[in-house]
Amino acid sequence: MDRYFSCKDIYRMLSGYIDDEIDTMVREIMEEHIKECERCLSLLHTLEKTIVFSRETHRRKKVPERFVKKVYYEIRIRYKR
Ligand SMILES: [Zn+2]
Repeated sequence: MDRYFSCKDIYRMLSGYIDDEIDTMVREIMEEHIKECERCLSLLHTLEKTIVFSRETHRRKKVPERFVKKVYYEIRIRYKR
């Protein structure tokens, strides 16, 4: 497996990332990318908003909102340094 992902790879896997459906190793590589890539960070932010909206629309959809917020917060802190 590649140690680095392109922005396209991140984009494809981001929903799985937010739903906590990808393995830890892949997630770590994604986090490495996202914390250094403004484009993917804003993409994650956009996706977070989309999920919140879809939760309001389809109440049965399980989205770990706490997880999303935590991840976004941590990435943002790291990115700002
Ligand atoms: Zn990127």
